[in-house]
Amino acid sequence: MYLISLLFFRKSEHGRRLKRAGVFVGLYLFTTLLLVPNIAPIFGREKVSNSELVKPHSMLYVLANRNYVRPELNVALGSIASSLNKRSKGIHVVYLDANFPFIDGFPLLPHLSHNDGKKLDLTFIYQDDNGSPTNLKRSRSGYGVYEEPRGDEFDQTNACNEAGYWQYGFPEYLSLGEVNKGIELDKDLTTFLAQAIVHEASVGKLFIEPHLKNRLGVENSKVRFHGCQAVRHDDHIHFQLK
Ligand SMILES: [Zn+2]
Repeated sequence: MYLISLLFFRKSEHGRRLKRAGVFVGLYLFTTLLLVPNIAPIFGREKVSNSELVKPHSMLYVLANRNYVRPELNVALGSIASSLNKRSKGIHVVYLDANFPFIDGFPLLPHLSHNDGKKLDLTFIYQDDNGSPTNLKRSRSGYGVYEEPRGDEFDQTNACNEAGYWQYGFPEYLSLGEVNKGIELDKDLTTFLAQAIVHEASVGKLFIEPHLKNRLGVENSKVRFHGCQAVRHDDHIHFQLK
């Protein structure tokens, strides 16, 4: 869209930059809001269905077209969100990166595997200082604020760093700042969320850091370690269709 907007005004034209920026924003919004959602089904994808129970952590995920999934994933997500809301009224599922709308194999950087409409990242669930569940999150972007391993827990990040995988802790640079410092992980509801995900028949795998898998007690063959070539998963839950 930016390249197209470059064609609109001649070099000599007065106020060209501002006009070009206007054309770019207009074209981008038109494409993102009207064209892309109608083209994505050709590639077997649709937008994550937002509702009272399913919301993006930031509208930027939506505006950047990072919110496309296969229809089966929307079905699973709706069922997960409804179980969660039954368990704790008012708590909704908050999603982060999904996939781009087109082309299998085209990755959604920095996630190499989010390239086929089958992947979605969700935030953990937190509780306020009274111990009540809240929809607030600890990271501005949704990534990069970790539930670090405690002294007696296995430190996978350290193990990966020592094995030379320097990128493993990279998301800390993507948090855009920590917010709501008074809240902490709601262990029960995050465990419930993870279990609701793996109980969906269409879900193939769930990735979470090994120390959190143990701390939350999520025992299921679908809960896997993603490997040191990926990034750490103690700031969000990743799941994917079979
Ligand atoms: Zn992911």
